[in-house]
Amino acid sequence: MNTYQITEWCSHFVREHVVPGDLCIDATMGNGHDTLLLSRLAGSAGRVLAFDIQQAALDAARKLLISRNAPDNTRLILDSHSHMASYADAETVSCIMFNFGYLPSGDHSLATCSETSIPAVLAGLDLLKPEGLMSLCIYSGGDTGFREKEDLLKLLKSLDCRKYLVIVSSYYNRPHHPPLPVLIRKLPER
Ligand code: SAM
Repeated sequence: MNTYQITEWCSHFVREHVVPGDLCIDATMGNGHDTLLLSRLAGSAGRVLAFDIQQAALDAARKLLISRNAPDNTRLILDSHSHMASYADAETVSCIMFNFGYLPSGDHSLATCSETSIPAVLAGLDLLKPEGLMSLCIYSGGDTGFREKEDLLKLLKSLDCRKYLVIVSSYYNRPHHPPLPVLIRKLPER
């Protein structure tokens, strides 16, 4: 049964969107689960760029891709996602996934933060093709705090509705600080 946890919710739409041959970006590689998903969907004719600032993430993601026989279409990049514009041309990317926060069972101090997340989302929006899709899994509370979520929501609110469709979903009856799944669709030029 699909329980529609935040990553399942976002990957549901990613699966519907990505087709073989696409260029995709995993902006927060971590242990590589989203990288694997994008690699399989893009297929051997496609390409995936995956970013993380921790060598431990690259090692874990490489191991996962090999163990699952993923297509050889993925570049694992030890760099901040805020530099993604140096690795792809504007309006060439079909899908970009962000899963903010820290590496599960890793160093919580190496979590994503507003200073790099905001420029990364803006850079990603420029890289998206018209009709391209960006998914964001946004967390708050605990070690993560609230600043990144608030800054991201402020940015999303400011996006021009003629250029972007922004859908913020919520786990409405869940207590405390449930995560927020977000989808952004770049609208075609009229
Ligand atoms: N999608 C991953 C998976 O499938 O396992 C989980 C991602 S984890 C919640 C968030 C990741 O973002 C961590 O591995 C962390 O190192 C990474 N990160 C933090 N700051 C970053 C930055 N500026 N650029 C790229 N990755 C960053």
